[in-house]
Amino acid sequence: MATFQDNLPDLTVAPAAAGTGASVYIETYGCQMNVYDSQAIDGLLKRAGFTIVDRDLAADVILLNTCSVRDLAEHKVISRVGELRHRRRRADLPQPVIGICGCMAERMGTDLRKGPRKVDLVVGVDNYDTLPDLLGKLTGGTCATEQRTVTGHRSDAHYVAPPALYPVNNSHLVTIHKGCDYKCTYCIVPYTRGPQSEKSPAAIIEEISGIVSSGGREVTLLGQNVTAYNWQGGMGFAALLEKVSEVPGLERIRFLTGHPHDMHRDLIDTIARLDKVCPWLHVPVQSGSDRVLRRMKRYYTRDEYLEMVTYARRAIKDVTFSTDFIVGFPGETESDFQATLEIAREVKYDQAFCFKYSERPGVPAAKLADDVSEDEKKRRLAELMAVQEETWNAVAGACVGEIWEGVVEGRARHQLTREDGPAWRLRTANNRKVILQGGEFEVGDRLRTRITGIKNTTFLGARQD
Ligand code: SF4
Repeated sequence: MATFQDNLPDLTVAPAAAGTGASVYIETYGCQMNVYDSQAIDGLLKRAGFTIVDRDLAADVILLNTCSVRDLAEHKVISRVGELRHRRRRADLPQPVIGICGCMAERMGTDLRKGPRKVDLVVGVDNYDTLPDLLGKLTGGTCATEQRTVTGHRSDAHYVAPPALYPVNNSHLVTIHKGCDYKCTYCIVPYTRGPQSEKSPAAIIEEISGIVSSGGREVTLLGQNVTAYNWQGGMGFAALLEKVSEVPGLERIRFLTGHPHDMHRDLIDTIARLDKVCPWLHVPVQSGSDRVLRRMKRYYTRDEYLEMVTYARRAIKDVTFSTDFIVGFPGETESDFQATLEIAREVKYDQAFCFKYSERPGVPAAKLADDVSEDEKKRRLAELMAVQEETWNAVAGACVGEIWEGVVEGRARHQLTREDGPAWRLRTANNRKVILQGGEFEVGDRLRTRITGIKNTTFLGARQD
């Protein structure tokens, strides 16, 4: 595990006078880590004198902050580069500088600067502090070819997004570490994001205190594997939760993503004891088969996972679970897949993000034969999603008539009826979404609501005084 610290450079302070006043449009793909990083890039560039715009056609520079987790995600970005260039030609506008940031930059490096869809700039996840200078040079026409690809991991590169820029659904994201040391055999993250490296507790507390003093009340602690947080071997994730809980004025703490292997009883007890920590666990199981879990190198068995779920259900009031599943992992048999369906039925997840296995170059699983056919992967995916829908409908249906408290996150996209005024999105502490119609509220208001129905994964509610 990487340890560093003391005198962490303040990467939110960009080099002086690098900006040229050029306008930048940032498009984000992938996970919440990328959402956070894009906001940090936004802050870095604004400080350096760039203007951030919300339309690609209005920008001198377009940055695509990308994801490498699946093959499809990468293809989407490559075709987006072509589409962005085409839109410029059609609008008869000069071509922008196009840069690729994030995991694709780290994985593909200079390859992204070749071929018909080549881009002008490639900057990996630990090198965003170089952007102001590079964009200054690029828009000024003075950037040498060999300077246009900046990749490689740095343990000291922790970015802090300015609080005003990143309330996401009323919850401010706070990255607490980056990278991952687990090396699950299918996963590209340890290669694109590098080894695990923690932001210091002091830096995290300072960031959260800044969020609270700007009016924020809720944070989501983010990392590839937050439950493995281990600051210099002396402070684990449970102790960090205790410390964050002590921040005056902070009301709710969520976290993403937890690894089932790290969900020890003392961590579960800590979550249960701390009122501010929300009772929602995103604990990706990936497969219900021990054979597949071993091949994925997940460090837990099906029974250990189920025992963790049972313990958490007993210890944490109203706890809910969400998960990720991969179907069609190399060597997955029909009986392995049936074990996955069984675990989905048994745990009764609120949400399950289900994916077909997608081979990533260079990861250990790429050495295994990708022997489940595409048609079979599709069938398994559809069957798993149907089981998830069925179990969710039963869980959600049993909630109708209950009274819950939720926090207003904003206006809903659609009204439920024409007559009853605006509809509002609420989220409960255990991460359930409720739409409620009528009344005027502020983001952050706490409301009691009676559950009246379900629409897909969202509940419908009526105000309860
Ligand atoms: S723990 Fe998560 S991020 Fe780390 S290797 Fe496994 S799947 Fe990837």
